[in-house]
Amino acid sequence: MTRHAGVLVFAELSAGELDDAGKGILAEGRRLATTLGTSWAAGCFAAAGGAAQEAFRRAGVPDLVEIDGPPGLADLPEAQAEALVDAARALGAKVILLAHTDQGASLAPVMAARLSAAIFTEAVSYGRDFAGLTLRRQALGAQVVEQRIWTDAARDASCGEGAVTPLVLTMSRRALSAVVPPGTPRGEARRTSRTARVDATGEGARVTERIPPDPQTVDVAEAQVIFTAGKGCDRGTFEAMCELARLVGASVGVTRPVYDLGWTGFERMIGQTGKTVVPRLYFAWGISGSMHHVGGITESRRIVCMNLDPKAAIFPSADEGFVADVREVLPRVLAHVHAAVDSREVKR
Ligand SMILES: Cc1cc2nc3c(=O)[nH]c(=O)nc-3n(C[C@H](O)[C@H](O)[C@H](O)COP(=O)(O)OP(=O)(O)OC[C@H]3O[C@@H](n4cnc5c(N)ncnc54)[C@H](O)[C@@H]3O)c2cc1C
Repeated sequence: MTRHAGVLVFAELSAGELDDAGKGILAEGRRLATTLGTSWAAGCFAAAGGAAQEAFRRAGVPDLVEIDGPPGLADLPEAQAEALVDAARALGAKVILLAHTDQGASLAPVMAARLSAAIFTEAVSYGRDFAGLTLRRQALGAQVVEQRIWTDAARDASCGEGAVTPLVLTMSRRALSAVVPPGTPRGEARRTSRTARVDATGEGARVTERIPPDPQTVDVAEAQVIFTAGKGCDRGTFEAMCELARLVGASVGVTRPVYDLGWTGFERMIGQTGKTVVPRLYFAWGISGSMHHVGGITESRRIVCMNLDPKAAIFPSADEGFVADVREVLPRVLAHVHAAVDSREVKR
């Protein structure tokens, strides 16, 4: 029997497992349900693997709806959205919560249209007060915070369908943490299966190919590994860093003084005025570590830096630091990587 849940969280699985965004949105689902004073459930496509089941248990997911369908379901976003809408209706969910990943960003508007719901995307925080649920996101290149209020937060879903305008909410990836908050009750989720109704012959969009992002062109805000050049790099060192980044599959960033030299476009400048980044690895080459720059990199999972000055402000912000001359080290690292790449080509 399907139970009631005020919040339905979509847990995105990749090869049956949850990534950090998936774990983060589960933690957020629990927090949102507590904020709204309601129950919650998670929904996912395909059978969740062992590690995902453990993540659901650690996140204290009370109810898990596993949506089954033909193998082609993964390529039919509209059918996926329809299946999630069906699950939300069956649960009586007022809010559908998703991580703002590629999949979350494509499902959210379709679901909102099907449910005649309010939609708010890339939220970075929220809170409840007498007016409703206040949702916040960054706007105008993170210069301002935009705020909207979902006033139906105070109304109960038991008022009946139509009485409450549902909300489809996506959370910005940078607002999500895979860390399970202490005190979260753990336990096996009650598992329910649903079968997606799929019209494989329908007119809807179909994914025909998935192209991995090119680190050289991807938005630095989405990049996984970033090499950033500061004023400590001269032109030759900067070019060596760009070549090294190309060879190892990293994206290129710059500080403001380097942008001012005209070596890259504004879209590669990182920091308070530039982009905020959330990579797995951030390598700062010849960067002093001013607050205007560091403010944009603090959410990086690992920060490594190299600077001639052992007292440079970047060191306390870094997980690992090297006191060294980037103009000497970078060309040597590049030569080593070139040699390694060349020998691999020869073996092939
Ligand atoms: C309102 C405002 C907004 C700003 N927004 C941004 C922003 O978004 N992004 C941003 O980056 N800046 C921003 N800035 C500028 C910021 O305050 C700093 O001036 C800037 O980040 C410094 O860049 P840098 O570290 O490359 O240069 P520097 O501060 O000049 O540091 C260069 C560093 O390189 C080291 N170095 C020199 N030679 C070598 C070598 N051969 N090998 C190794 N290390 C070496 C030096 O020891 C030094 O620490 C902003 C400033 C203001 C006022």
